[in-house]
Amino acid sequence: TGSAPALTPARLPIGPLLPVVGGNLAAPLAGGGRTARAVNLDYAASAPALQAVADHVTEVLPYYASVHRGAGYASQVSTALYESARQTVAKFVGARPGDLTVFTRNTTDALNLLAGAVPDDGEVVVLDVEHHANLLPWTSRRHRLIPTAGTIAETVAALEATLAERPAALVAVTGCSNVTGEILPVGEIARIAHAHGARVVVDGAQLVPHRRVDITALDVDYLAFSGHKLYAPFGSGVLIGRSDWLDAAQPHQKGGGAVRSVGTDGQAVWTTGVARHEGGTPNVIGAAALAAACRAIDELPEGAVEEHEAALSARLLEGLEQIPGVRVLRVWSDSADRVGVVGFTVEGHEAARVAVYLSAEHGVGVRDGKFCAHPLLARLDVTGGALRASLGLGSRSDDVERLVHAVRTLVTEGE
Ligand code: PLP
Repeated sequence: TGSAPALTPARLPIGPLLPVVGGNLAAPLAGGGRTARAVNLDYAASAPALQAVADHVTEVLPYYASVHRGAGYASQVSTALYESARQTVAKFVGARPGDLTVFTRNTTDALNLLAGAVPDDGEVVVLDVEHHANLLPWTSRRHRLIPTAGTIAETVAALEATLAERPAALVAVTGCSNVTGEILPVGEIARIAHAHGARVVVDGAQLVPHRRVDITALDVDYLAFSGHKLYAPFGSGVLIGRSDWLDAAQPHQKGGGAVRSVGTDGQAVWTTGVARHEGGTPNVIGAAALAAACRAIDELPEGAVEEHEAALSARLLEGLEQIPGVRVLRVWSDSADRVGVVGFTVEGHEAARVAVYLSAEHGVGVRDGKFCAHPLLARLDVTGGALRASLGLGSRSDDVERLVHAVRTLVTEGE
């Protein structure tokens, strides 16, 4: 009848869900003189700032002043801004009344803070699939490392068996793998941990930018994540969770603001609450930017983030998997849910060279290497490094098509 072929949702042109800063940058291509729109498929490393975040930062910059101890008008505004940012971020992830929301530099900083707050005699249980940020703070203290099994079900069973064998204080687990994008059932893990008297911390660095996370509903004790992966600039992150360990711990940053008083002998009486761990002048603009990102995402219709990404991810996975020699990495054969973070290798091609080729010849930016997850890459038998393409709110379908086309061209025509 001459009607157009049906378009599957994944093949419809998909634009950005929210505008990001620099979404239309031009990248120089090899050969000189040529440029192309710079395709950023490296959201999992650091996501570009949302335009709404940039606008908010511009709006609040005139009130730049040190918080909490200044009586001047700008200081009052900055203090209100900082404390309301804290509330916005806490609400964004469903914090319980009484939970502390400590601003940190990033996820690494947040997890190190918690590592210093776990009671001394408490053991920490951790999987071997973690990003180094959620591995090294724990393996530097008393811990048990659980080798991941081939399925999530077996991995969770191994975790339960470990906890049943001997109690632990804390289970540290990622919400989502930064290498494969696979999501772990953190609610179920929290239930099992609690049944065995352990608490749970979720490394939310990759999960929070892609999925709504409600720590009350999931019954997760602590959550850590980074602003720069959630469309805010570098330098702000959070640790959110139960106050008792944090109030009893040594301050994370000793200095001004963390004390009630200091004697003439230099002995401090430390304060409790968030201030105990936020010594020194805080990153007020970073906190405000992070809160602005949370607000912008909150204002999207329910499910919009997931829907936007699901269509793009499906096309990305399908496109890559159809290219001979491309292996899409996955840890678990039963993982049902994944975000738009796709690790892959190209047979016969060194990952670092592929990344340079994609950028120089096609203007496509991806990540290569071992993604700060050396044990996981070894478990996946990837020795030389892999590539990772990752999507977010500013991604569009032609970004995905450009990458798929570029990898196919490499495989069929060579560099
Ligand atoms: N955890 C995961 C799963 C990550 O992907 C990352 C960053 O890549 C981190 C932790 C560390 O985040 P940051 O470098 O912001 O501290």
